[in-house]
Amino acid sequence: MLRLTDVQLPLDHPESGLESAILARLGITADALLGYTVFRRAYDARKKSAVNLIYTLDVEVGNEAALLKRLQGKRGVQPTPDTNYRFVARAPSGSKMRPVVIGTGPCGLFAGLLLAQMGFRPIILERGKSVRERTKDTFGLWRKRVLHPESNVQFGEGGAGTFSDGKLWTQVKDPNHYGRKVLTEFVKADAPPEILYVSKPHIGTFRLVKMVEQMRASIEALGGEFRFESKVDDIEIDDGRVRAVVLANGERIATSHLVLAIGHSARDTFQMLYDRGVYVEAKPFSLGFRIEHPQSLIDNCRFGPNAGNPILGAADYKLVHHCENGRSVYSFCMCPGGTVVAATSEPGRVVTNGMSQYSRNERNANSGIVVGITPADYPGHPLAGIAFQREWESRAFELGGGNYDAPGQLVGDFLANRPSTEFGSVLPSYKPGVRLGDLSPSLPDYAIAAIREALPVFDRQIQGFAMRDAVLTGVETRTSSPIRIKRNDLFESLNTRGLYPAGEGAGYAGGIMSAAIDGIKVAEAVALSMVSASAPA
Ligand SMILES: Cc1cc2nc3c(=O)[nH]c(=O)nc-3n(C[C@H](O)[C@H](O)[C@H](O)COP(=O)(O)OP(=O)(O)OC[C@H]3O[C@@H](n4cnc5c(N)ncnc54)[C@H](O)[C@@H]3O)c2cc1C
Repeated sequence: MLRLTDVQLPLDHPESGLESAILARLGITADALLGYTVFRRAYDARKKSAVNLIYTLDVEVGNEAALLKRLQGKRGVQPTPDTNYRFVARAPSGSKMRPVVIGTGPCGLFAGLLLAQMGFRPIILERGKSVRERTKDTFGLWRKRVLHPESNVQFGEGGAGTFSDGKLWTQVKDPNHYGRKVLTEFVKADAPPEILYVSKPHIGTFRLVKMVEQMRASIEALGGEFRFESKVDDIEIDDGRVRAVVLANGERIATSHLVLAIGHSARDTFQMLYDRGVYVEAKPFSLGFRIEHPQSLIDNCRFGPNAGNPILGAADYKLVHHCENGRSVYSFCMCPGGTVVAATSEPGRVVTNGMSQYSRNERNANSGIVVGITPADYPGHPLAGIAFQREWESRAFELGGGNYDAPGQLVGDFLANRPSTEFGSVLPSYKPGVRLGDLSPSLPDYAIAAIREALPVFDRQIQGFAMRDAVLTGVETRTSSPIRIKRNDLFESLNTRGLYPAGEGAGYAGGIMSAAIDGIKVAEAVALSMVSASAPA
């Protein structure tokens, strides 16, 4: 198989265009071409009136060796690399030891799946409910203002990304092609097959719900076990080694290998780990607001006359500005054609985030506009970042009126430093509702100053970004974990053997793909350790 890279064709090219491009690139005739598949399809929209599709193609030809010899050194032609996943270990037969995974977000699910595929029959513990029941509880906050502290956007089967845009790309280095394994497993679980080749795949909320159920069924069929409403309240550590976990109902589950995939919002569990002496340290994160614009504004700006083309879909953006006060402001978790969601897991607090459906056809585009902060902003204690997040989330709750409405302000008013009283052309999507007013008390002064400086700069890149009627809602605080649970080269906690901190909560991922990839890496480390522990001395 040969891989052809950077094959560029116009957006409206005919189906036959790909074959012609392959023949031209390889200098062969049609009878020598046995078949081809699209490995990746991206687009180049820098010239809006002439958008190009950029393909990476895997091509089968007759007499490949001779052709490769003839084309030696030609740019954009090489043997297709092997991206197949290979298991690193198999559970020893008759092994009684079972690894325990805490959390069913992408990290815990992939750790559980890989361990199950290698024959280790993991026990997977989740504080929240199964995904269907959890969906009802999550809608309870959005529609009826009823928060379920153990079953919400952050907690429950599928983890934090279940009610999301389901963006599936990451910038983490992936020399072992774990990302390919993740996408392949998602497709097996009924994700749209195109996620295997489009450059910025996404899934959307409703499909994610079904996929999570499918993945659970696969893990169970391999001997894994799921236990919902099973919050881990304590861990037993003896002589620097994990011995057991203790659930909220008092049940003790003994284990020598514990994967900690608890996400960034398990604040009580972070505290418990700290109290038990597990090494944790503060880490930087970001806070800010959600911003909403008409999706058509973003589409027109990015795609011009090609806005609305189904191959391009709803346009996204990525923005960053380095401010005079030394802060950086950037767009975070942009959701084209989506909605802003209430994402708190704690009573008396308001947190924003964003989600979309697969179709991305809601009226507004939204993204977090967030400011980077560091432990220097909340010094003193490894868990001080949590107190800092809580302070601003509580303030947002008060400013919103104390009923889970989010505080909001129009961009024009925010820039002019006057409270908003009336919505304009952009209606916010956050449910249960948005209370207009003045957002400046809802974040530290330096963050407000940084966002005020950044918005007009962003407007120069996306004309209309600082439009008067765009709506800001606050506050966006759960951008990543405020702590890191540090681990060594064997993926174990620095000071607790058998404890494997993983995914976003431990500070080793920042999104669905990177959390899933981290889950695979940690599962491999657990499997290798369990095999070596069971080997005869
Ligand atoms: C609304 C929203 C939209 C998002 N959109 C995207 C997106 O489009 N693309 C993207 O890449 N990322 C997105 N993210 C971020 C993404 O969801 C996270 O990066 C990812 O889910 C982290 O995976 P994780 O497995 O490490 O943790 P999580 O997904 O947070 O999972 C942790 C799990 O552990 C459970 N848990 C915690 N403590 C305990 C305990 N003590 N006992 C038992 N169980 C426990 C929790 O209930 C939870 O289910 C979004 C997040 C949110 C909230």
